[in-house]
Amino acid sequence: MNIEERKNQGADIESFDNVTLTNKTITQICKDDLTNEPLRKYYRFRYSKQFYGGIVTGDIVGCNLRCAYCWSQKTAWYPQKGSWQSVDQVVKILLNLANNNHCEKIRLSGGEPTLCRKHLITIIQQLPDHFSFILETNGILLTNKEYIQELETLTNPPYVRISLKAGQTLYSRITGASLEAYRAQLQTIKILKHSSLQFNVAIIAEFFTSEEIRKIERLIAPKRLEREQLIVYPFVRETLRKRGLESLGI
Ligand code: SF4
Repeated sequence: MNIEERKNQGADIESFDNVTLTNKTITQICKDDLTNEPLRKYYRFRYSKQFYGGIVTGDIVGCNLRCAYCWSQKTAWYPQKGSWQSVDQVVKILLNLANNNHCEKIRLSGGEPTLCRKHLITIIQQLPDHFSFILETNGILLTNKEYIQELETLTNPPYVRISLKAGQTLYSRITGASLEAYRAQLQTIKILKHSSLQFNVAIIAEFFTSEEIRKIERLIAPKRLEREQLIVYPFVRETLRKRGLESLGI
């Protein structure tokens, strides 16, 4: 059986309900209800040269997917980790790192930034206009059109990078989530096409069949499709093995 045939074997693992995990995670890692001080859990801040030609990153705790290849799974999946940070604290740290490294790009990574809506929006609002905020997201919560409209109306709207986690065939095995989450990701891409936000879609080709990739290319302009490189850390290999994905030859 070749790789393409193995990908087509389909997803038959028990998958979780993404809405339940999303709601539970939000209660664990966001304190968005505090009017002036929306808090979120973070585990580190850093500047890295190798992405986007240099970018400052706040690495967050908490995600609503469980991707087998997740490089940050040791923190993203464990909401008890990390420490609470207010918007003011985060913006101060990010801007200090940016100034020290002559950098004008900022992102939150290592988890799902959209889970804490008020915290995220307030951070973007507080950044000076010459900074670019890159919203790296799985996009599931952006199926809410009001969320996208709120991002569109910001003085300095973010650039959105949607990471489509796998094609339909392998989606549940890769992310652990039911196909509702996959459909939500596609729905967000469709909404973004009609928004004023700039965006692209990142995929790891190993987790898509050729036909699934062609489908995405038909949905968005090919220049918007980014092929991301899979980094197989030892713990990633172990998670792939546990999900029965070693037969993909990764
Ligand atoms: S969406 Fe991103 S942070 Fe969440 S589990 Fe998948 S790879 Fe990890």
